[in-house]
Amino acid sequence: MKVDPVYFDHAATTPLDPRVLEAMMPFLTEIQGNPSSVHGAGRRARHAVESAREEVADLLGAEPSEIVFTSGGTEADNTALRGVVRAASLPVVTSAAEHEAVLRTAERLRDDGHPVTILRPSDDGSVTVSDVERAMNGQPALVSVMHANNEVGTLSPVRALADACHAAGGYLHSDAVQTAGVLPLDVDALGVDLLTISAHKFYGPKGVGVLYVRAGTPFEPVQRGGAQERGRRGGTENVAAIVGLAHAFRLAVEEAEERRAHLAALRSRLIAGLRARLGYDLVLNSPLDPDAAVPHVVSISFPPRDGRPVDGEMLLLNMDMEGVLVSAGSACTSGALEPSHVLLAMGRDRATAAATIRFSPGKDTRESDVDFVVDALERVYRRMTR
Ligand code: PLP
Repeated sequence: MKVDPVYFDHAATTPLDPRVLEAMMPFLTEIQGNPSSVHGAGRRARHAVESAREEVADLLGAEPSEIVFTSGGTEADNTALRGVVRAASLPVVTSAAEHEAVLRTAERLRDDGHPVTILRPSDDGSVTVSDVERAMNGQPALVSVMHANNEVGTLSPVRALADACHAAGGYLHSDAVQTAGVLPLDVDALGVDLLTISAHKFYGPKGVGVLYVRAGTPFEPVQRGGAQERGRRGGTENVAAIVGLAHAFRLAVEEAEERRAHLAALRSRLIAGLRARLGYDLVLNSPLDPDAAVPHVVSISFPPRDGRPVDGEMLLLNMDMEGVLVSAGSACTSGALEPSHVLLAMGRDRATAAATIRFSPGKDTRESDVDFVVDALERVYRRMTR
């Protein structure tokens, strides 16, 4: 009998919720107009996009005019940094634990001669208010700090960072790709000026996201073309995907408490299981305190054993053969031999960082899946270090 693999990689992407697909279907099959067309078919598509915008704005505590639909988290991050820098030429402050979409954009700005500070994160991957204040030195800046880290799950104090940033006349962007649909997100409670979310992390379609831009934030469009998105992002809207994003976000918010409680229970079962079986051999990269992290990301590393490094790629391949789908860190770095930039920035040595597994359960994961994963990892690790 062939058993389905256990999917433990929800931080990389989540499966499309069938209810979301159902909401999208009419916009893939019947309602085919271009939202910019003035005829009836166009008006129906426009209505769908604007309803989705109102829904997303409502869920984020924002105004519809502050919502910009993008092709995903990467575009939203790129646009946040470049859009503000073009309009206001502010220095950029960010951290070495950011997703590549922010980090590579900041590095490129720096290479082009723009003032950019890339902070070293704390040992747990978070960014402290005092480090940001020091980097700003009382001067306005665009600060970009992610809400939860995608590799280790650690939360950064976004509200306090926003306050510090505003006190110096600056603006805060936060990549909330890993918290959208998992933790409550209200732009006023968080105090952010810009916020990134991506639908495929909360059971929506891939290739669609949102950049929230608070009214009054300096912003110049990066992608030019038509007047879509109030001139802030040219290009015909991906109507079905936008409808799917809004629907998936609504479901995530409605089911948030249930999903969170379920994931929190899975997280503690997973950590307890891993520690009981492999406690002396592994390093937990994620915070032990459940309030300091998102519940769906648990990262562990294996330091060298008797001076011999543990082969991270072999770990993943062996887990795959055992029927467990996990990742090495961020999806973009898995498969490559380069150790994760986040773990290196957190102070792990290269050999330990290279022997890392990120476990990421989802809303439909069962307790028995967690037990299966722990059993499989113990078998694989013992076999590899015999
Ligand atoms: N930011 C974070 C924290 C992520 O985890 C990801 C996806 O891995 C992204 C940005 C990129 O989002 P997308 O895949 O929608 O481009």
